[in-house]
Amino acid sequence: MTHFSEMLKKYSIKLNKKEIKTIQINTGYACNLNCAHCHVDAGKNRTETITKEVIDDCLKFIKNCRKEIDIDITGGAPEKSEFIEYFIKELRKLKNVKRIILRTNLTILEDKKELIDVFKENNVELTASLPCYTKENVDEQRGNGTYEKCINMLKYLNSIGYGIDENLIINLVYNPLDDYLPSSQKELEKDYKINLKNDHNIVFNNLYTIANIPIGRFEEKLKKNNKYEAYMQLLEDNFNASNAFKVMCLDTINIGYDGKVYDCDFNQMKNLLSQNGKSYYIGDLTIDDFKDNNIPVEDYCYGCTAGEGSSCQGNLS
Ligand code: SF4
Ligand code: SF4
Repeated sequence: MTHFSEMLKKYSIKLNKKEIKTIQINTGYACNLNCAHCHVDAGKNRTETITKEVIDDCLKFIKNCRKEIDIDITGGAPEKSEFIEYFIKELRKLKNVKRIILRTNLTILEDKKELIDVFKENNVELTASLPCYTKENVDEQRGNGTYEKCINMLKYLNSIGYGIDENLIINLVYNPLDDYLPSSQKELEKDYKINLKNDHNIVFNNLYTIANIPIGRFEEKLKKNNKYEAYMQLLEDNFNASNAFKVMCLDTINIGYDGKVYDCDFNQMKNLLSQNGKSYYIGDLTIDDFKDNNIPVEDYCYGCTAGEGSSCQGNLS
Protein backbone atom coordinates (compact mmCIF):
# COMPACT_ATOMS: atom_id res chain seq x y z
CA MET A 1 0.00 0.00 0.00
CA THR A 2 1.21 3.51 -0.80
CA HIS A 3 1.19 5.76 2.25
CA PHE A 4 -1.06 8.80 1.95
CA SER A 5 1.90 11.15 2.42
CA GLU A 6 3.71 9.46 -0.50
CA MET A 7 0.60 9.74 -2.65
CA LEU A 8 0.47 13.47 -1.95
CA LYS A 9 4.15 13.76 -2.98
CA LYS A 10 3.49 11.82 -6.16
CA TYR A 11 0.92 14.44 -7.16
CA SER A 12 3.02 17.34 -5.74
CA ILE A 13 0.22 18.20 -3.31
CA LYS A 14 1.02 19.94 -0.03
CA LEU A 15 -1.62 20.18 2.67
CA ASN A 16 -1.13 23.60 4.24
CA LYS A 17 -3.74 25.66 6.01
CA LYS A 18 -5.60 28.18 3.89
CA GLU A 19 -8.06 30.81 5.04
CA ILE A 20 -9.96 29.49 8.08
CA LYS A 21 -13.69 29.30 7.44
CA THR A 22 -14.88 26.86 10.11
CA ILE A 23 -14.06 26.27 13.75
CA GLN A 24 -15.19 22.87 14.94
CA ILE A 25 -15.47 22.23 18.66
CA ASN A 26 -15.77 18.73 20.05
CA THR A 27 -17.53 19.12 23.39
CA GLY A 28 -16.62 15.62 24.64
CA TYR A 29 -16.98 11.93 24.05
CA ALA A 30 -20.06 11.10 26.15
CA CYS A 31 -23.02 9.88 24.11
CA ASN A 32 -26.31 8.06 24.70
CA LEU A 33 -25.60 5.70 21.75
CA ASN A 34 -22.77 3.31 20.90
CA CYS A 35 -22.85 3.26 17.09
CA ALA A 36 -20.85 0.56 15.32
CA HIS A 37 -19.10 3.01 12.97
CA CYS A 38 -18.25 5.73 15.56
CA HIS A 39 -14.82 7.23 14.84
CA VAL A 40 -14.87 8.92 18.25
CA ASP A 41 -15.44 5.68 20.15
CA ALA A 42 -18.06 7.72 21.99
CA GLY A 43 -20.64 6.18 24.27
CA LYS A 44 -22.33 5.86 27.60
CA ASN A 45 -19.07 4.91 29.31
CA ARG A 46 -17.19 8.07 28.23
CA THR A 47 -17.01 10.98 30.64
CA GLU A 48 -14.64 13.45 28.92
CA THR A 49 -16.44 16.77 28.66
CA ILE A 50 -15.71 20.41 27.92
CA THR A 51 -15.35 22.85 30.82
CA LYS A 52 -16.69 26.39 30.97
CA GLU A 53 -13.11 27.65 31.00
CA VAL A 54 -12.38 25.97 27.65
CA ILE A 55 -15.67 27.27 26.23
CA ASP A 56 -14.74 30.80 27.27
CA ASP A 57 -11.30 30.43 25.66
CA CYS A 58 -12.97 29.20 22.45
CA LEU A 59 -15.32 32.20 22.52
CA LYS A 60 -12.38 34.58 23.00
CA PHE A 61 -10.52 32.96 20.09
CA ILE A 62 -13.58 33.14 17.81
CA LYS A 63 -14.30 36.77 18.71
CA ASN A 64 -10.69 37.72 17.99
CA CYS A 65 -10.84 36.18 14.52
CA ARG A 66 -12.38 39.46 13.27
CA LYS A 67 -13.76 37.70 10.21
CA GLU A 68 -16.86 35.69 9.42
CA ILE A 69 -16.65 32.17 10.79
CA ASP A 70 -18.91 29.12 10.82
CA ILE A 71 -19.04 27.19 14.08
CA ASP A 72 -19.48 23.42 14.03
CA ILE A 73 -20.29 21.82 17.39
CA THR A 74 -19.75 18.09 17.59
CA GLY A 75 -19.06 15.26 20.05
CA GLY A 76 -20.00 12.58 21.28
CA ALA A 77 -23.36 14.15 21.83
CA PRO A 78 -22.97 17.92 22.34
CA GLU A 79 -26.30 17.87 24.19
CA LYS A 80 -24.53 15.99 26.99
CA SER A 81 -22.55 19.11 27.89
CA GLU A 82 -24.02 21.11 30.75
CA PHE A 83 -22.72 24.28 29.06
CA ILE A 84 -24.22 23.76 25.60
CA GLU A 85 -27.01 26.29 26.08
CA TYR A 86 -24.56 28.88 27.43
CA PHE A 87 -22.17 28.21 24.52
CA ILE A 88 -24.87 28.67 21.86
CA LYS A 89 -26.22 31.87 23.40
CA GLU A 90 -22.73 33.38 23.74
CA LEU A 91 -21.82 32.37 20.17
CA ARG A 92 -24.93 34.09 18.83
CA LYS A 93 -23.82 37.34 20.49
CA LEU A 94 -20.64 37.37 18.38
CA LYS A 95 -21.15 39.47 15.26
CA ASN A 96 -18.63 37.50 13.18
CA VAL A 97 -20.31 34.14 13.77
CA LYS A 98 -22.28 33.13 10.68
CA ARG A 99 -23.65 29.60 10.92
CA ILE A 100 -23.83 27.70 14.19
CA ILE A 101 -24.02 24.03 13.27
CA LEU A 102 -24.75 21.40 15.89
CA ARG A 103 -24.33 17.68 15.16
CA THR A 104 -27.04 15.64 16.80
CA ASN A 105 -28.01 11.98 16.84
CA LEU A 106 -31.66 13.12 17.27
CA THR A 107 -32.49 10.44 19.87
CA ILE A 108 -30.89 12.42 22.68
CA LEU A 109 -33.31 15.31 22.04
CA GLU A 110 -36.28 13.14 23.01
CA ASP A 111 -36.65 14.79 26.43
CA LYS A 112 -34.89 18.07 25.66
CA LYS A 113 -37.63 20.26 24.19
CA GLU A 114 -36.30 23.33 26.04
CA LEU A 115 -32.90 22.89 24.45
CA ILE A 116 -34.56 22.57 21.04
CA ASP A 117 -36.21 25.94 21.73
CA VAL A 118 -32.73 27.37 22.33
CA PHE A 119 -31.60 25.93 18.97
CA LYS A 120 -34.59 27.48 17.26
CA GLU A 121 -34.24 30.90 18.90
CA ASN A 122 -30.59 31.07 17.87
CA ASN A 123 -31.01 29.68 14.34
CA VAL A 124 -28.80 26.70 15.09
CA GLU A 125 -28.41 24.56 11.98
CA LEU A 126 -28.90 20.91 12.89
CA THR A 127 -26.89 18.20 11.17
CA ALA A 128 -28.45 14.93 12.16
CA SER A 129 -27.19 11.42 11.62
CA LEU A 130 -29.58 9.06 9.87
CA PRO A 131 -27.48 6.45 8.05
CA CYS A 132 -30.43 5.15 6.06
CA TYR A 133 -34.13 5.83 5.48
CA THR A 134 -35.02 2.27 6.45
CA LYS A 135 -35.54 1.02 9.99
CA GLU A 136 -33.51 -2.17 9.73
CA ASN A 137 -30.35 -0.46 8.50
CA VAL A 138 -30.49 2.34 11.08
CA ASP A 139 -31.18 -0.03 13.97
CA GLU A 140 -28.40 -2.36 12.84
CA GLN A 141 -25.82 0.43 12.98
CA ARG A 142 -27.12 2.46 15.91
CA GLY A 143 -29.08 0.05 18.10
CA ASN A 144 -32.67 -1.18 18.30
CA GLY A 145 -35.34 1.49 18.58
CA THR A 146 -33.06 4.25 17.22
CA TYR A 147 -34.92 4.64 13.93
CA GLU A 148 -38.29 5.22 15.53
CA LYS A 149 -36.86 7.83 17.89
CA CYS A 150 -35.13 9.62 15.00
CA ILE A 151 -38.32 9.65 12.92
CA ASN A 152 -40.37 10.99 15.82
CA MET A 153 -37.82 13.72 16.45
CA LEU A 154 -37.65 14.70 12.77
CA LYS A 155 -41.46 14.99 12.77
CA TYR A 156 -41.29 17.22 15.84
CA LEU A 157 -38.54 19.37 14.30
CA ASN A 158 -40.63 19.78 11.14
CA SER A 159 -43.61 20.77 13.28
CA ILE A 160 -41.67 23.70 14.76
CA GLY A 161 -40.30 24.82 11.39
CA TYR A 162 -37.01 22.94 10.95
CA GLY A 163 -36.58 21.92 7.31
CA ILE A 164 -39.34 24.37 6.35
CA ASP A 165 -38.39 27.85 7.59
CA GLU A 166 -35.39 29.18 5.63
CA ASN A 167 -33.59 30.04 8.90
CA LEU A 168 -34.13 26.61 10.43
CA ILE A 169 -31.94 24.23 8.49
CA ILE A 170 -31.81 20.52 9.11
CA ASN A 171 -29.35 18.33 7.22
CA LEU A 172 -29.20 14.55 7.41
CA VAL A 173 -26.03 12.50 7.34
CA TYR A 174 -25.64 9.21 5.53
CA ASN A 175 -22.68 6.93 6.10
CA PRO A 176 -22.23 3.40 4.73
CA LEU A 177 -23.26 0.53 6.96
CA ASP A 178 -19.97 -1.24 6.39
CA ASP A 179 -16.73 -1.38 4.39
CA TYR A 180 -17.77 0.36 1.17
CA LEU A 181 -17.82 3.90 -0.14
CA PRO A 182 -20.91 6.12 -0.17
CA SER A 183 -22.77 6.19 -3.46
CA SER A 184 -23.67 9.46 -5.22
CA GLN A 185 -24.73 12.12 -2.71
CA LYS A 186 -27.06 13.72 -5.23
CA GLU A 187 -28.87 10.47 -6.04
CA LEU A 188 -29.07 9.38 -2.42
CA GLU A 189 -30.50 12.75 -1.39
CA LYS A 190 -33.29 12.25 -3.92
CA ASP A 191 -34.02 8.75 -2.52
CA TYR A 192 -34.03 10.03 1.08
CA LYS A 193 -36.34 12.92 0.22
CA ILE A 194 -38.84 10.71 -1.61
CA ASN A 195 -38.86 7.92 0.98
CA LEU A 196 -39.02 10.10 4.09
CA LYS A 197 -41.76 12.23 2.56
CA ASN A 198 -43.82 9.27 1.37
CA ASP A 199 -43.40 7.10 4.46
CA HIS A 200 -43.41 9.72 7.22
CA ASN A 201 -44.22 13.11 5.68
CA ILE A 202 -40.76 14.34 6.77
CA VAL A 203 -38.83 17.07 4.94
CA PHE A 204 -35.21 18.19 5.34
CA ASN A 205 -32.74 20.45 3.57
CA ASN A 206 -29.63 18.55 2.47
CA LEU A 207 -28.19 15.08 2.68
CA TYR A 208 -24.48 14.77 3.40
CA THR A 209 -22.77 11.51 2.49
CA ILE A 210 -19.77 10.84 4.71
CA ALA A 211 -17.29 8.00 4.25
CA ASN A 212 -16.43 5.77 7.20
CA ILE A 213 -12.94 6.73 8.32
CA PRO A 214 -11.01 3.66 9.51
CA ILE A 215 -10.32 4.78 13.06
CA GLY A 216 -12.09 4.33 16.41
CA ARG A 217 -14.81 1.71 16.64
CA PHE A 218 -14.98 1.28 12.85
CA GLU A 219 -11.26 0.45 12.72
CA GLU A 220 -11.78 -2.12 15.51
CA LYS A 221 -14.69 -3.68 13.62
CA LEU A 222 -12.69 -3.92 10.39
CA LYS A 223 -9.75 -5.52 12.17
CA LYS A 224 -11.96 -7.96 14.04
CA ASN A 225 -13.46 -9.13 10.73
CA ASN A 226 -10.07 -9.18 8.93
CA LYS A 227 -11.29 -6.48 6.55
CA TYR A 228 -8.98 -3.61 7.52
CA GLU A 229 -6.35 -4.08 4.78
CA ALA A 230 -8.99 -4.59 2.09
CA TYR A 231 -10.84 -1.42 3.16
CA MET A 232 -7.62 0.62 3.17
CA GLN A 233 -6.87 -0.68 -0.30
CA LEU A 234 -10.36 0.25 -1.47
CA LEU A 235 -9.78 3.80 -0.20
CA GLU A 236 -6.39 4.02 -1.91
CA ASP A 237 -7.68 2.54 -5.17
CA ASN A 238 -10.34 5.25 -5.24
CA PHE A 239 -7.92 8.11 -4.48
CA ASN A 240 -9.08 11.19 -6.34
CA ALA A 241 -6.32 13.83 -6.41
CA SER A 242 -8.73 16.69 -7.09
CA ASN A 243 -10.36 16.02 -3.69
CA ALA A 244 -7.03 16.56 -1.91
CA PHE A 245 -7.27 20.26 -2.79
CA LYS A 246 -10.63 20.48 -1.00
CA VAL A 247 -10.26 18.41 2.17
CA MET A 248 -11.81 20.13 5.19
CA CYS A 249 -8.60 20.36 7.23
CA LEU A 250 -7.42 23.08 4.82
CA ASP A 251 -9.90 25.63 6.15
CA THR A 252 -10.94 24.19 9.53
CA ILE A 253 -9.59 24.34 13.06
CA ASN A 254 -10.73 21.53 15.33
CA ILE A 255 -10.73 21.98 19.11
CA GLY A 256 -10.97 19.15 21.63
CA TYR A 257 -12.97 19.18 24.86
CA ASP A 258 -9.75 20.04 26.70
CA GLY A 259 -8.95 22.99 24.42
CA LYS A 260 -6.22 21.26 22.41
CA VAL A 261 -6.11 22.16 18.72
CA TYR A 262 -6.09 19.85 15.71
CA ASP A 263 -6.76 20.07 11.99
CA CYS A 264 -9.77 17.75 11.98
CA ASP A 265 -11.78 15.53 14.31
CA PHE A 266 -10.05 12.42 12.95
CA ASN A 267 -6.62 13.76 13.84
CA GLN A 268 -8.03 14.63 17.26
CA MET A 269 -8.95 11.00 17.82
CA LYS A 270 -5.42 9.96 16.84
CA ASN A 271 -3.87 12.76 18.92
CA LEU A 272 -2.20 14.36 15.88
CA LEU A 273 -2.00 17.92 17.16
CA SER A 274 -2.02 21.05 15.01
CA GLN A 275 1.55 22.01 14.09
CA ASN A 276 1.17 25.75 14.50
CA GLY A 277 4.58 26.04 16.14
CA LYS A 278 3.32 28.02 19.11
CA SER A 279 0.93 26.19 21.40
CA TYR A 280 -1.47 23.27 21.48
CA TYR A 281 -4.04 25.17 23.59
CA ILE A 282 -6.69 27.35 21.97
CA GLY A 283 -6.51 29.99 24.71
CA ASP A 284 -2.88 30.78 23.76
CA LEU A 285 -3.55 31.24 20.06
CA THR A 286 -4.98 33.60 17.47
CA ILE A 287 -6.16 32.75 13.97
CA ASP A 288 -2.88 34.11 12.53
CA ASP A 289 -0.97 31.31 14.28
CA PHE A 290 -2.54 28.81 11.87
CA LYS A 291 -1.47 30.53 8.66
CA ASP A 292 0.16 28.11 6.16
CA ASN A 293 0.60 25.40 8.80
CA ASN A 294 1.60 22.04 7.50
CA ILE A 295 -1.19 19.52 8.24
CA PRO A 296 -0.07 16.15 9.64
CA VAL A 297 -1.62 13.25 7.70
CA GLU A 298 -2.02 9.50 8.14
CA ASP A 299 -3.29 6.74 5.87
CA TYR A 300 -6.89 7.16 7.11
CA CYS A 301 -6.83 10.47 5.17
CA TYR A 302 -7.59 8.35 2.10
CA GLY A 303 -11.13 8.28 3.51
CA CYS A 304 -11.46 12.00 2.73
CA THR A 305 -10.15 11.76 -0.84
CA ALA A 306 -11.73 8.53 -2.11
CA GLY A 307 -14.48 8.65 -4.74
CA GLU A 308 -16.65 11.75 -4.41
CA GLY A 309 -14.56 12.80 -1.39
CA SER A 310 -15.81 13.22 2.16
CA SER A 311 -15.97 15.92 4.81
CA CYS A 312 -18.20 16.95 7.70
CA GLN A 313 -20.23 18.89 5.08
CA GLY A 314 -20.68 15.87 2.84
CA ASN A 315 -18.92 15.05 -0.41
CA LEU A 316 -16.25 17.27 -1.98
CA SER A 317 -17.57 17.27 -5.55
S1 SF4 B 1 -21.59 8.09 15.91
FE1 SF4 B 1 -22.41 9.89 16.98
S2 SF4 B 1 -24.33 9.17 17.93
FE2 SF4 B 1 -23.11 7.34 17.43
S3 SF4 B 1 -21.91 6.86 19.29
FE3 SF4 B 1 -20.63 8.17 17.95
S4 SF4 B 1 -21.00 10.25 18.68
FE4 SF4 B 1 -22.68 8.97 19.47
S1 SF4 C 1 -8.43 12.93 7.85
FE1 SF4 C 1 -8.25 15.04 8.54
S2 SF4 C 1 -6.11 15.61 8.07
FE2 SF4 C 1 -6.61 13.81 6.86
S3 SF4 C 1 -7.30 14.64 4.88
FE3 SF4 C 1 -9.11 14.25 6.17
S4 SF4 C 1 -9.53 16.22 7.10
FE4 SF4 C 1 -7.39 16.28 6.37
